[in-house]
Amino acid sequence: MNIPKASRVLRVALPVPLAQLFDYLPAPGDQFAPAGARVLVPFGRRKLVGIVVESDVPSSMPAERLLRILAVLDEAKPLLDSSLMSLLAWCWQYYKHAPGVVLQTALPPALRKPDARLPAAPTQFALTGAGEARLQLPPGRVRAQFAMLQKFAHGPISEIGLALEGLRWRTTLGRLLQQGWVHTVPLVTGEPHITPGPVLTAEQLSVVDSISRMSGHFHCHLLDGVTGSGKTEVYLHLLEPVIRAGKQCLVLVPEIGLTPQLLRRFRQRLGLEPAVIHSRISQGERLNAWEAARSGRSRLVIGTRSALFTPMPALGLIILDEEHDSSFKQQEGFRFSARDVAVKRAADLDIPVVLGSATPSLETLNNARSDRYTWHRLRQRATRAALPTWRVLDMSQNSRHHGLAGGTIELMAETLSRQEQVMVFLNRRGWAPVLMCEECGWHASCERCDANLTWHRSAGRLCCHHCGNQRRVPEFCPDCRADGLSGAGEGTQQLERAIQERFPDVPVLRFDRDSTSRKDSFNDRADQVLQGGPCILVGTQMLAKGHHFPDVTLVVVVNVDQALYSADFRALERLGQTLLQVSGRAGRAEKPGSVILQTFHPGNESMALLINGGYEAFAISQLEERRLAQLPPLTFQALLRGEALIRADVEQFLSAAADIFPRGETRIFGPMPAIKEKVAGRYRMYLLLQSNTRADLHRQIDSWLGPLEALPQGRKVRWAIDVDPQEL
Ligand code: ADP
Ligand code: ZN
Ligand code: ZN
Repeated sequence: MNIPKASRVLRVALPVPLAQLFDYLPAPGDQFAPAGARVLVPFGRRKLVGIVVESDVPSSMPAERLLRILAVLDEAKPLLDSSLMSLLAWCWQYYKHAPGVVLQTALPPALRKPDARLPAAPTQFALTGAGEARLQLPPGRVRAQFAMLQKFAHGPISEIGLALEGLRWRTTLGRLLQQGWVHTVPLVTGEPHITPGPVLTAEQLSVVDSISRMSGHFHCHLLDGVTGSGKTEVYLHLLEPVIRAGKQCLVLVPEIGLTPQLLRRFRQRLGLEPAVIHSRISQGERLNAWEAARSGRSRLVIGTRSALFTPMPALGLIILDEEHDSSFKQQEGFRFSARDVAVKRAADLDIPVVLGSATPSLETLNNARSDRYTWHRLRQRATRAALPTWRVLDMSQNSRHHGLAGGTIELMAETLSRQEQVMVFLNRRGWAPVLMCEECGWHASCERCDANLTWHRSAGRLCCHHCGNQRRVPEFCPDCRADGLSGAGEGTQQLERAIQERFPDVPVLRFDRDSTSRKDSFNDRADQVLQGGPCILVGTQMLAKGHHFPDVTLVVVVNVDQALYSADFRALERLGQTLLQVSGRAGRAEKPGSVILQTFHPGNESMALLINGGYEAFAISQLEERRLAQLPPLTFQALLRGEALIRADVEQFLSAAADIFPRGETRIFGPMPAIKEKVAGRYRMYLLLQSNTRADLHRQIDSWLGPLEALPQGRKVRWAIDVDPQEL
């Protein structure tokens, strides 16, 4: 018998949504490019940039059907090193996502095109002799130039450093170069110049000590410290020795946590220029930062979720701040948790990872309670400022004006008359709409599983997002027979106008995505607040962190009820976290702050526990409830999400998918509509998979995927698996 010898091939990941790798022969006369290198390959009629996953391996394809790669794009060295490649391979297996799409995530967008090249080593700018002489003279007319020149007095600054200082820096820098006052010099990574910060408190010191004692190996630390307890100061002390030892550090922060203030603090204290990576910088800036990290030139990378996969050859420490923040989970495409993958990356590299938060997620607390993570607590504010006091305001006992209670308005007026500031916080995180009785507080819940029902207004239905149970909206309250059923938390739209009408002489500053879309307007507004004087800040989650506003002494949380009775079982956890984060904005040593919670349900036990017992007591009782209800993190979930233009198409696909789900421990619920059922004309539904063990869940999904892809009903449907989902 004549068995043909298998061809040796390169196995390549391509940016196509297919759960497979593709075999190619090397170009004629070429060596096998190593794993992690970019190659250009023919794919149908197109040419695609792929990444080599395996090199010089036998193929099961017949030789005559194999195509050759067109070119190796990175000659010298693979772009992604082997530890990163194996982390990414773990990711596509764990998250059940197309390998090519996962690998793309690790490449800066600029490198996804075939003609992209790595940037040259960057430069920075320094004073010339003439510049120094100019500094001795009076500022003169062009203040911006002189102001920038003064910044160089402390040493060279890179483009990124300048970009942080103001908007039109490029023009000003051009003038300084023209005048011969500054010139470009190569960026060298000398020793960082570490400036000592404040003397650590006893609490901070003991945390730094105990984390340092476990350095050098993988260990996951939870830094659980109240707002203002000086967690950032602890991070700086942990980073210092690692950077001094010539290693690299990765600091991940939530999307709205990456403020110029934060960067300035790191830069000043550590005396080095961090490579900054997030999705809103230009492709060029991002590529430069990425290359600085990959080449080892940058010792510190600070970024959001998308910075997680930055290649860092000498990585020695990972810190993830505000680990509970939902922006660490990517919610479309390759749905991964940057927190969980960061822990995996640290484990692979055998280095420590620190997860910090004032309000740790239940997942992380559960890990800390079961000793998988070490739990470090900071219970006092570093500045000795008192934590704010809480006040629950019963809306049913108060007059109401467009969402504000009469009692709230009185307290606002008092605060403003003391020349202090008020923050009105709208809890608008896209909570599932909840139907409630305005008279008695009744809300709809599922008789089968005790979960709260979501109100799908256009369809006139109430839906359980846990078991899929659905029913019609009742015409009047089943408890008290009143017909005042309405959506909780409605009517906050007119709030800003109502506030302005009530306080016509006080500036009302709005902070949310719409009003702060221009790059610097958030900071402009923040500066206005920091200048002092009475004003009212109105805003959403954006206000909850990043800034300290010392003159804000009253925080008003307008609508807590929608979250109290949301269908999403995580809503209470998130409400607790958000309330503590906003309350952390209130008050300073001299001026204690207070927080008003407006609610129709002043007796809610969870809220009472949060207020009287603190976050830890609240969170532990939430964990206990999750255990009783068999919900994550005590059980494990995945979703099969589908969407299509025609509702029946999704429903049929998901039903067929449920029918072929392999037998085992994992239970399957649905199909049911997503909480946001219709988005951009497409209907979204899901199947919920839930298991008591992670291993069972994954084993069953893995053997399901093949048959699932072969389902003919799937052709009209966009579908994806969401492992460890955060939203329904
Ligand atoms: P967190 O990150 O926990 O909210 P920060 O690290 O931002 O806290 O610290 C809050 C404030 O307290 C900052 O203004 C910081 O400079 C200050 N601070 C932190 N640690 C100390 C300390 N040991 N002594 C004095 N002030 C401190
Ligand atoms: Zn009622
Ligand atoms: Zn149910």
